[in-house]
Amino acid sequence: MTLVQSVEELQKLLLLSKSKAKKIGFVPTMGALHAGHLSLVKKCIEENDVCVVSIFVNPTQFNDATDLEKYPRTLDADRLLLEKEGAQIIFAPSVKEVYPVADNRIFDFGLIDKVMEGKHRPGHFNGVAQVVSRLFDIVKPDRAYFGEKDFQQIAIIKAMVKQLNLEVAIETVPIMRETSGLAMSSRNERLSSEQRKTASLINEVLQKSSTTNLSVEETIDFVTKSINANKDLSVEYFEIVDGGSLQSITNWKDTSYAVGCITVFCGEVRLIDNITYKKI
Ligand code: AMP
Repeated sequence: MTLVQSVEELQKLLLLSKSKAKKIGFVPTMGALHAGHLSLVKKCIEENDVCVVSIFVNPTQFNDATDLEKYPRTLDADRLLLEKEGAQIIFAPSVKEVYPVADNRIFDFGLIDKVMEGKHRPGHFNGVAQVVSRLFDIVKPDRAYFGEKDFQQIAIIKAMVKQLNLEVAIETVPIMRETSGLAMSSRNERLSSEQRKTASLINEVLQKSSTTNLSVEETIDFVTKSINANKDLSVEYFEIVDGGSLQSITNWKDTSYAVGCITVFCGEVRLIDNITYKKI
């Protein structure tokens, strides 16, 4: 496995593979890797000749300076995990390397970034589109891998790929969870062991809500109240949306693909999760 930090060095390495018609798979991450990331890496290794994993905490997607500052950075440990998994290249660039000049592009994703994460984290998806398009331009992968934990992000990436006419195939991987059901996240590192236990209630309640015969409105009420009943958890939003348009539905009959997306604060830590209620 090779760790590269410069675009030039990475492109030199990739040129060699591309000249031999090797398929390049790419997993963009912000590091602090866990089994969720590694499930993307596994799939990438299986389906491509070369697996490139980027580790880059992208400043343009953080709308909160403290969140950016507190984001865990664990390159040495990440490197060991990726080596064990069998990834061929880690790309861990500096901010200057990714953005030699400031990226002032403003993307227009219509309604899909006006809701949920887009609404609560202004500018977040614009920053995601900036960094992912920039990384795609550097790596020029055949396939790129994203986790369903960031459900809305996948829709944004697919829209961006379409808008920019990119040739990369977007592959998705299911949410990886702790045994407790808590969705794995680099942010879980910031939870105390007590908070980790408490946060597992999020998935527990979502699962329970999918076994009831409640209406959409009652489901929203049930999930929100059950989670907020715990004094250490606070729901920022819970929406049930059409999985394609990401717009809220009011009746189960409104769509053949219904997904519940939630964000919950556990102390200062912002956790996201989702559940597919219906997919036909
Ligand atoms: P991040 O480092 O948080 O930007 O995540 C990098 C990629 O890993 C994104 O595509 C995430 O959706 C994915 N990912 C993060 N956590 C999980 C998880 N628990 N299960 C599956 N994929 C995940």
